[in-house]
Amino acid sequence: MQRWVRSICAAVLVSVLVACGSGDDARPVMTVDAEGVSTIDGRVLTDQLATVPASALSQAEAASLLFMREEEQLAHDVYAVSATLWPPPIFANIAASEATHSSAVKTLLDRYALTDPLAGLPNGTFKTPAFQALYNALVSASRVSLIEALKVGVQIEELDIRDITAQQTAIDNADILNVYDNLLRGSRNHLRAFMKVLTQQGGTYVPQYISQAEFDAIVNAPMETGR
Ligand code: ZN
Ligand code: ZN
Repeated sequence: MQRWVRSICAAVLVSVLVACGSGDDARPVMTVDAEGVSTIDGRVLTDQLATVPASALSQAEAASLLFMREEEQLAHDVYAVSATLWPPPIFANIAASEATHSSAVKTLLDRYALTDPLAGLPNGTFKTPAFQALYNALVSASRVSLIEALKVGVQIEELDIRDITAQQTAIDNADILNVYDNLLRGSRNHLRAFMKVLTQQGGTYVPQYISQAEFDAIVNAPMETGR
């Protein structure tokens, strides 16, 4: 065999071995079920973060992580209340997945040695007054009727989509961008899931934070897989 043929064979063998060896690393951080419930696997995230070298954290990145920790927790806490009020399983199912979103952001806070704004605070309690006021208003609205609680679900997901999209532009650390990419896919899936049940219940929704065109494009697209 000529030397160059042997080199190519060796190269092919190495790439096959690498492909086999990386099978585990290819597990997505987020999994999506048939209803669109989008759950982050903390163990996969931790394994993946271990392969990414930590880079310097900018002020904007730090501020964004602190903000998203409270916003993801707000989603969980509001849906957890709705789960005690209304029969559809969507509230408990998405509340459980929001807990994994909040804890994914907490994983990043720990990685960058940032103090958790929610440390020591019980569910439904927030460090930032604006989040506390928003939580109180959304829980009040959710108590009115099932339709209103579902509309609150769409509203929270719409808010997440606006905020993550806006904050992504100021972020360049790959580990944060990867988590945010999954949070964004998850929020679009949750928006689709809440809209589906809302429509089944005869309700309608007018977007508040994103354009009608962007909203319609999300609702009309299929559920997205995680990465
Ligand atoms: Zn979320
Ligand atoms: Zn969500």
